[in-house]
Amino acid sequence: MDAEQHSIAIIGGATAGAEAADIFASQGILTVVFEQNARPYGKVEDGLPRWHVGLRAKEYRTIDRKLSQEHVHFVPRTAIGRDIGLRELVEDWGFQSVVLANGAWNDRPLPVEGSDAWVGKGLLYQNPYILWFNHRHEAGYDGPKYEVVDGTIIVGGGLASIDMAKIVTLELTLERLAERGIESDLEELEIKGIPKVLTAHDLTWEDLGIEGSTIYYRRRLEDMPLMTLPPGADEKTAAKVEKGRRNMLAKSMSKYMFQVVPLHSPRSLIIDDDRCVGVVFARTSMEGGRLTVTDETVEVRAPLVISSIGSIPRPLEGVPMKGELYDYTDWDVGTLPDYPTLFSCGNVVTGKGNIVESRKHAKRVGRHVSDEYFRLAQDVRDLEPMGPEEREALLKRIQERQARVGYSGYASWIEASKPPGFV
Ligand SMILES: Cc1cc2nc3c(=O)[nH]c(=O)nc-3n(C[C@H](O)[C@H](O)[C@H](O)COP(=O)(O)OP(=O)(O)OC[C@H]3O[C@@H](n4cnc5c(N)ncnc54)[C@H](O)[C@@H]3O)c2cc1C
Repeated sequence: MDAEQHSIAIIGGATAGAEAADIFASQGILTVVFEQNARPYGKVEDGLPRWHVGLRAKEYRTIDRKLSQEHVHFVPRTAIGRDIGLRELVEDWGFQSVVLANGAWNDRPLPVEGSDAWVGKGLLYQNPYILWFNHRHEAGYDGPKYEVVDGTIIVGGGLASIDMAKIVTLELTLERLAERGIESDLEELEIKGIPKVLTAHDLTWEDLGIEGSTIYYRRRLEDMPLMTLPPGADEKTAAKVEKGRRNMLAKSMSKYMFQVVPLHSPRSLIIDDDRCVGVVFARTSMEGGRLTVTDETVEVRAPLVISSIGSIPRPLEGVPMKGELYDYTDWDVGTLPDYPTLFSCGNVVTGKGNIVESRKHAKRVGRHVSDEYFRLAQDVRDLEPMGPEEREALLKRIQERQARVGYSGYASWIEASKPPGFV
């Protein structure tokens, strides 16, 4: 393919979007990455907790390298669906293909009737909470403000719910150490674990007087997805994975001092004085991999309830939904009905909150689009290469949008958009 005879738009510039951009750019395709935020790092910056200092820095560098190369045009502060309609982008801008890489930014709603009314009043969701936690030290942070509260309970069971539990115990430990004039930092505490750091100062967990945090999970401890169970695994493998999960959980609980209560499913919220003050759980049982919710209930009072039961894609105008997911016609490469030139990659399709999975999927979709779609299009549907005028017109539109948001080059933009006090 000759350079920039073909064009593609990518929606979302994070792990998946940058990976797909890298593949298209290496084929000489004019690649335009639209990103709603100023910075393109997505959940690496706004999800992965900030104690992962090294991993975050590494992922930023990877994304930067992929988005700053030849043939890639970055368009920040531009949300598709808000600033530019999806249909308009697909049909009017002159792109031969569009790839959604917009991740999963909404929280799955807590399956408890009427719970919406208590959000912000004793009930919080994981995604805004971690966003606040990751950015709260920045001088310019102007988003919603929350608190770290001792005795918080978390409804969940995945890896992200463990992060919520860790936020509480790590932060409170730092606070109590600081009160004693002992300096530690989040990264050190996370790497060494709470008991080790306390022992080094002749302290015990009990000395700190922290109640901690507790995760309520509807299945058994060995069902927590801390290790992947391969599909169709035999009994021996399943037993090995279950043992591995239990061991990992036990290690994490003792290192970070949180608790997990299995076999509890949320049934209703406890409301007192116009505030959510706890959860009524129904006890559950698991037999032969099947979950049964019993009639037996348990009241758990807590100063804060965090719901951490998964992330789902944010609805995008023009994209059909099936339940809480996009209604793909092909889940492998994320095609949608009525959008023959559109594909999707990363968390928005896989539903897996994992950097490696997003990257792997984006690589596969990127190769499919560049090898199969563009080639197929030329062979079968005779997709014409862009003429110089079409290319000029597209570039002009892109430059106009970049100018409107004040963007004039990747490196200077990233430097200028770094929040003060950013870690
Ligand atoms: C609490 C927590 C802990 C985690 N811990 C880990 C971990 O330890 N290890 C791990 O591997 N993964 C972890 N993850 C998950 C991981 O960070 C994500 O799964 C992964 O980064 C997703 O990459 P993505 O590119 O598919 O999506 P995202 O990172 O979500 O990127 C989507 C991009 O699209 C942009 N966008 C969205 N909508 C629009 C729009 N309409 N127009 C333009 N742009 C748009 C977003 O701003 C974003 O930049 C964690 C996540 C959370 C929440």
